[in-house]
Amino acid sequence: MDFIYQKQAEKGKQCQECQSFVVKPENAVEGLCNGKDVLAEGGCMFFKKKEDQQ
Ligand code: SF4
Repeated sequence: MDFIYQKQAEKGKQCQECQSFVVKPENAVEGLCNGKDVLAEGGCMFFKKKEDQQ
């Protein structure tokens, strides 16, 4: 996958708030994005905020 990923993204635009992020149960600062390791506080150009959580 070829995308611009930042290890430290702007607050409010971090992986942990993104729809694609799946947190790792054993380590909440890490997760998976489409099968790729990412950091909870990282981010990229495909950020999409989680919204439908009702
Ligand atoms: S799409 Fe980007 S911002 Fe969203 S979880 Fe994946 S790497 Fe993070």
